[in-house]
This record gives sequence, structure tokens and C-alpha cells, in this order.
Amino acid sequence: MDLESPVQFVKGVGPQRAEGLAKLGVKTAEDLLLHLPMRYEDRRQFVRVAELRPGMRVAVSGEVAAAGLRRTRRLTIYELRLDDGSGRLKAIFFNQPFLKDVLAAGKRVVLFGLVERDAMASRLLVMRSPQYEIVEHDEHGGVHTGRLVPVYEKLGSLTVKPLRRVLAQLAGQVPADLWDPLPPELRQRLSVIGRGEALRRVHLPGDDDTLDALNCFRSPGHVRLILEELLLFQLGLARRRSGVRAERKRAAFDVTDAAREAVKRILPFPLTSAQKRVLREIADDLRSPHPMNRLVQGDVGSGKTMVALLSMVVVIENGHQAAFMAPTEILAEQHFLTLRRLVARCPYGVELLSAAVKGRARKQALGRIASGEAQIVVGTHALIQEGVVFRRLGLAVADEQHRFGVLQRNDLRKKGYDADVLVMTATPIPRTLALTAYGDLDVSVVDEKPPGRTSVRTELRQASERRAVLELVKRTIAEGHQAYVVYPLVAESEKLEDVKAATEASVEWAAALPGVRVGLLHGRMASAEKEEAMAAFTRGAIQVLVSTTVIEVGVDVPNASVMVIEHAERFGLAQLHQLRGRVGRGAASSVCVLLAYGRLSDVARARLDVMLATDDGFAIAERDLEIRGPGDFFGTRQWGMPSFRVAHLLRDRDLMERARTEAFRLADAGALPPSLSRFLEAGGWERRFGLARVG
Ligand code: ADP
Ligand code: MG
Repeated sequence: MDLESPVQFVKGVGPQRAEGLAKLGVKTAEDLLLHLPMRYEDRRQFVRVAELRPGMRVAVSGEVAAAGLRRTRRLTIYELRLDDGSGRLKAIFFNQPFLKDVLAAGKRVVLFGLVERDAMASRLLVMRSPQYEIVEHDEHGGVHTGRLVPVYEKLGSLTVKPLRRVLAQLAGQVPADLWDPLPPELRQRLSVIGRGEALRRVHLPGDDDTLDALNCFRSPGHVRLILEELLLFQLGLARRRSGVRAERKRAAFDVTDAAREAVKRILPFPLTSAQKRVLREIADDLRSPHPMNRLVQGDVGSGKTMVALLSMVVVIENGHQAAFMAPTEILAEQHFLTLRRLVARCPYGVELLSAAVKGRARKQALGRIASGEAQIVVGTHALIQEGVVFRRLGLAVADEQHRFGVLQRNDLRKKGYDADVLVMTATPIPRTLALTAYGDLDVSVVDEKPPGRTSVRTELRQASERRAVLELVKRTIAEGHQAYVVYPLVAESEKLEDVKAATEASVEWAAALPGVRVGLLHGRMASAEKEEAMAAFTRGAIQVLVSTTVIEVGVDVPNASVMVIEHAERFGLAQLHQLRGRVGRGAASSVCVLLAYGRLSDVARARLDVMLATDDGFAIAERDLEIRGPGDFFGTRQWGMPSFRVAHLLRDRDLMERARTEAFRLADAGALPPSLSRFLEAGGWERRFGLARVG
């Protein structure tokens, strides 16, 4: 049988159904076979009628002893008695008048369903609309009963039963020695069964399969199919990575004496050992003749900016330029100010190229970038997309924060840049996802926070307890510290209503806190105003800063020790964690108040519980992933989460690890089995995992 043959030729499908299936991406027999059951039911044991009890969900085998069709105004009811020698079971079916022929008296049938007490005659037991099957040969179990029966999700116009019939038939035809991309030695290493056997067994479980293993997607058939998919996926990543490793970059960068001098002048504090370690890893990459493609992961406040800056210094001292890209304009501005302040004692040109820089000023900025006078260029990703001309770009840093538009070195090359790439993310990415999303990058982790951080106490408060919250803020101010009050933001760009809410709130807070200097910050303010508000808060001129989420990242005021998050129920976990990270930066003990309004949804409650339970960013990310599921965790798929057919990112974490190890081992060993290398060629990999990029 040819698995590539169009699905319309599969018995029981036909041209009309095939059209519907094609819309769901099911075009071939193989596509159909990869529609795995969502669960399995054990229908092997027939229970004798005499032993039936209400509430049992079982299969009963017997002969149709008596039957009749009734019609009411709205319904037809087909009723029968099944006799198995030990007693009689009633079964009723609604609006299926044709059953009078199918399940006529004298037929041997198997019924599967829930046993209930009959409403009419309480001594009698009944099954309502059970699954049924005509038994043709006594010794064989049927398709729908008498075995471990797969239960499918409906597929196009194919409902559970026809689907089961079609797949049982199709799976039965799959030869055990079907062509297998995994050669025998590899199968043996992985201890997995052959592809043909796997495809058959997931649809037609055999005697060796247990209900538990099947339902956990860990039967030998499942493991084989899932591992195959993940292995092929990881092989593609391994190839991408070795591709980058094989490239040679135009210039390598040494940590020169001049660079060391500059670093000394810049550093306002000793680096943490995690920062040092990560910097060493980056320095090795910069020095290497091959391009750097590295992800730096580190929780909020772990000091990634300094790591990025010192990397930039090395490149600059080697006569090249560095680009620093932030996810939003506001953040770009903030980074620009931070970086400019930090390098004040070095003769570096720092340039901000944001959308706000227009006209003549922009032209001049572009001129300085093209001449090389601007050595650090800060902006959003537009920097690269718009093809700004650099004289000699040596390093591109992308501060992704919790966004996942991963900057690929390849994207840079397409735009004509040949630079080392450093991606920084503040979102602790659960390992499975890191292996998936950033699987072709080298990863460094800044897993230590600078000294002097205090842990943050987190409290959940209802709106009715605002008074207590107000008291807390008052006390904090009286002790000489400062507080943030954050209002949620519905969309990416700040909507007018949000701005209005924050503006009104600042007035309310000011009224409730007489004598306290309350300031306001939101994304719609002019840059100069924003800067002024931030500066005033930093020097303590503003004591309570009411803001929208613009302060989510990058803001650093160690004297602020209280964070009040209004409508905490509306924020995502990553955001809550980021916001909480704004406090606990100084010596004062800090508090984060989650102020919730109204009845909490289960999901909101779950999120807030996580916040109360831990401040470990990785733990929070793991829980976030569980609560939301992988698709949602990353928000959009555009940036390149693969689409799997049988594997599931959460369920199959363990198998992903195995696949990764094996794939990288294979790739490092050099010669791939031809069946695997063929798959990786000519864009097959990108197509298979939905990773083909447009443009
Ligand atoms: P993130 O990793 O979230 O980007 P930042 O780079 O913004 O963190 O750093 C957070 C704060 O910690 C900043 O004020 C920064 O100056 C400070 N910081 C960074 N490294 C150290 C260090 N080694 N010792 C003391 N403070 C540090
Ligand atoms: Mg940062």
C-alpha cells in the first residue's frame, strides 16, 4: 500500500469527503493515519447481562431477541432486547429507523455503552444509544467493540464511527516492513519499533498494548511516532547550528588591552560570577572565526544589559559598531539613556534611531551611523528591517524581553549584515520550549542576581481592602521609600481608555495621600515628559509613580519598595513577574500587592496563586506554560514555533530531550543515514514543521 496515495482512494473516503479532509490538511493516506486517537477504551471484556449494574460502561454480546420501532410526534424510537443467555438487556436508539433492518431480531451483536436503570421498569437495565456492532464471525472481535477501541476526534465529515472503520481498514493494510526513515541500528539505539508496526498499532492496538500506555501516548507505537517526529525536528536544528558553525565571519574580535581599560572605566560595580561566566562565553564566540549566535537568558534584574554593553565594548575596541535593538520605542529610549550614561567616560558615539527621530536629525544620525562615528546604535528591530547602513557592524544585540520574535543571524545576512548575534530574553523559557524555539542557538544563562537584592513579599488583596493597601503605601513613604502603582493595559499600544484610567487614578491616589508627591507615566506622553517623570521618580522628587505598563521593563529605582498592581487579574504571569521585578532592588524589604477586582476566573486565580507561591522565574514560566498551553505561551506562531503532528510540547517533554540528544549526536558524528539527510534537504524540513518563511 502506498501511504502517499491521495486520501480519496482510501476505502470509505471517496472524492467528496476527501475534499473536506484536504481543507484540514489531510491529503494522503499517511496524513489520515497520523490522525491519532484522542483516547482508547477497553472493550475487550464482555460482561454477562446477569452481572450488569447501573453505572457500568461495558460491552455486552448476545442475540437480538425482540425488537420494535415506535414513532412519537418528534421521534422514532427503536427498542430491542439483547439476550446473552444470562438475562435480557434493553437498548433504545433514537431517530435511527434504519436500525430495524440492521439490528433485526436474530442478529448476533455487540453493544457498548453506559448501563442505566430503566425509567419505565426499574428492574430492567437499559443502554441508551449504545455503540453497536454486528458480529459476523463469532471468534473475532469487531471494529468498535471486543478490543481496545480507539476513540477519535471528528475529522471533517467523518464522525467517530466511520472514522474508526476507515482507519481500522487502512491501518490493517500498512505493511510491517513499511519504508522507515530510521534505519535499524538507530531504532535499536532508541529501542523503538518500526514505522509500519507503529502506524498499525496506534489504530489497532494489539495484545501487547495496555490501556494505560495507550492513553498516556506512551505505547510502543506512540513513542515510535512521536520520537520520529521530534528527532527529525531536532536534526534540522542541529544542521542549522552546524551550518552557522561552519561559516566564517569577516572579522573576529579580541579582548584587547584597550577593551579591558574601557571595561574598567565603565563598570560601576563588580560583576556577579554569572555575568562573568556569560561574558567569557560571549568573548569566546567573539574571538572565534565563526559567527556567534547566542541567546542570553536571565531573570528580570539579573544584569543582562551590562553583559551586552561589555560585549559591545569588545567589538567597538576592535574598530566595529554595535547595534542594540529593543522591542519597543519606549524601551529603546530607556536603553539609550542607560547606555549613554554608562559609557559617559569612554569616547563612544551613542546614537538613538527611533521613529521619533525625524527629518534633519534623522539624516544626520544616519550619516553618523554610515561613517562609523556612531559606535553604539540603539533602536527597535526597525534598525535592521529598514536597512540602515552601518560602516562596520560587528555585533547585533536584540533585547527580546518576553517577546519571541527571535532575531536569526540569517535574517541579518539577508539584509547584507555580517555580524555576531546576541539575543537576550528576560523570560525564563521552560527548557522544552527553549530546545524548540531557540534550539539552534547557543544558550548562556545569567542565573544569579546582583547582591543586595531582597526577596519580595507578595500579597493578594481584594478591592474591598484598598484601605489597607493605602496604609501600606503611606507607611512606605513615611519610611522614606517609594511606590509604584500600575494599571493594566489591554493592547500592545496604549489605548486612550487605559491612559485615562491611569490619569484618573493618579488624581485619586494624590487625593488619598495628602502631602505625597504623586506622578504619572504613560506611553502616550511625549518622550521629554516621560523622561522627566522617570528622572523625577529616580531622584525621589516623585514618591508614588502611577503608571501604565511602560515601566514593565528596564526601569530601575532601588529606593522603590512597594509595587501595587491594580487589576492584577488581568495581567499575564510573565507580566506580573516582570512588574514585581521592579521592586526588591534595594536594601528595604519590599512588597508586591496584587489588587484584584470581582470574582476571579479559574485561570486568573491559578495565575495569582503561582505569584504567591514562588518568585523563581523558571518555575513561574513552567506553570505559565501549563496554564496556557504552548501555543498561547508564545502568543503568536509567526515567529516560528513548529507545528507537530503527533508530538505535543508539554506532554512529550521527556521525548524531546531524548530526541535532542540523539539528533545532536548523529549530527556531530558527521554522516547521517541517507534516509534522514534526504529529508533535511530542499526545504523539506521547514515545510514539514510549518517553518517556511515568507520573503
Ligand atoms: P535585566 O537582566 O533585567 O536587563 P538590568 O541589566 O536592567 O537587568 O540590571 C538590573 C539592575 O542591576 C541595574 O540597575 C543594573 O545596573 C544592576 N546591576 C547589574 N549588574 C550588577 C552587578 N554585578 N552588581 C550590582 N548591580 C548590578
Ligand atoms: Mg533588560
